[in-house]
Amino acid sequence: MLTIAYDGKVGGWQTPKIVPYGDISLSPAASSLHYGMQCFEGMKAYRALTGGDGRDGKGEGDVVEEDDLRLFRPDRNMNRLKDSMRRLGMPGYDFDGGEVIECIKELVRLDRDWIPSGRGYSLYLRPTVISTHPYLGLSPPESLLLYVITSPVGPYYATGFDPVRLTTDTPYVRAWPGGSGSSKIGGNYGPTMMPGAEAHGRGYSQILWTFGEEEHVTEVGAMNVFFLLEKGGADGKGRRRRELVTPPLTRGDILPGVTRQSILELAERWDEFDVVERSITMSEIRKASCDGRLLEAFGAGTAAVVTPISHIQYRGEDIIVPAPGELAMRLFDDLVDIQYGVVEGPEGWSVRI
Ligand SMILES: *Cc1c(COP(=O)(O)O)cnc(C)c1O
Repeated sequence: MLTIAYDGKVGGWQTPKIVPYGDISLSPAASSLHYGMQCFEGMKAYRALTGGDGRDGKGEGDVVEEDDLRLFRPDRNMNRLKDSMRRLGMPGYDFDGGEVIECIKELVRLDRDWIPSGRGYSLYLRPTVISTHPYLGLSPPESLLLYVITSPVGPYYATGFDPVRLTTDTPYVRAWPGGSGSSKIGGNYGPTMMPGAEAHGRGYSQILWTFGEEEHVTEVGAMNVFFLLEKGGADGKGRRRRELVTPPLTRGDILPGVTRQSILELAERWDEFDVVERSITMSEIRKASCDGRLLEAFGAGTAAVVTPISHIQYRGEDIIVPAPGELAMRLFDDLVDIQYGVVEGPEGWSVRI
């Protein structure tokens, strides 16, 4: 694992080290253990593929490029980690993200034999920052540990592109305007586990989180969410007008996902429908469904890339969504192709290690 200590008393960030994976020693008074002074990232290292007919998502014909390892938009993860640290009042958030990416590349090179090959296989990377400051007073920490651990992971969809059933029927709220939902900090996740388990017990795999009287949709589980709606009428080229909607980052209750941003940029380039970041409420979604205009819904995140949504429980009734839809499958294939270097993506997306 990669470890980089920060100590305000001796000049801030110390020399990065790569050491054997193992337990860390921490004061029981460390503020990470009491006040949630902790943030993290989720990213992956991929073993590149040369596509045969790999675009079918099954990987038949893919050829593994043993020596070609890739990261996907790691600069975005570093910027988000810095933002999370700043939100927590941690010092040292002005570190050089490019330098940490170089350290992560070195870690991945050392761990290269642990990177499985094939579509959907990768080495998951978990950059984490914790306070090591042994102080029970409520004040910003003076010492930190940034570390990165790794784990081989397989395809999220072992049995095909399985759609998920969601429920909005929960009294709990994950994030709200002005809260901390836009930061990847541990304190946002612990409190979702009991409501999530309750939803699971009722036959729903995740919660579609909303907030407020108007029931603004925010996220699904720990993924960003997208809706493809028909708008009525035709566009300039005679096509049915459609709109891809995801909630906006402006309120501060949405985690700025790298997958979310990449989907927005890809869809924008296709220029086949409107791509919009705006508020969307449950009543709008229900109305669109009643009118037959709710074409698709899916979640987006590094772990599963794209997760099609088939049901949304709302006030005791299931809204049925066609799934898996064409758009979800196309985005999944296109993103995976870029992540594995099968297809050259936009500048700076697939980074060689
Ligand atoms: C990590 C995360 C996401 C997805 O972000 P990616 O960068 O795409 O992996 C979305 N929502 C929440 C709440 C998250 O924690």
